[in-house]
Amino acid sequence: MDDIISKTKQDMTWNKTGVWRNMRPVRDPEKCIQCGLCKTFCPDFSAEKDSLDYDYCKGCGICAEECPKGAIEMVKE
Ligand code: SF4
Ligand code: SF4
Repeated sequence: MDDIISKTKQDMTWNKTGVWRNMRPVRDPEKCIQCGLCKTFCPDFSAEKDSLDYDYCKGCGICAEECPKGAIEMVKE
């Protein structure tokens, strides 16, 4: 058992919390004005002005709610 836990931790995918997600934010670069509000409000530090980190994003949808331009759409995984 210890061996399994050790190998899992070495794999470094064990803490990629994005695997819990069932909704995914998708940004429309045509609408985005690079204001950074999504980054400000994201509780998981997964939103940047020009990227979304799907390894850690949990799909909470806060970025989509706060975006003043409606540039982020939540889609089903
Ligand atoms: S909040 Fe919306 S407009 Fe602002 S950087 Fe994020 S996606 Fe772009
Ligand atoms: S859905 Fe939630 S966790 Fe994912 S980038 Fe948006 S605010 Fe962050």
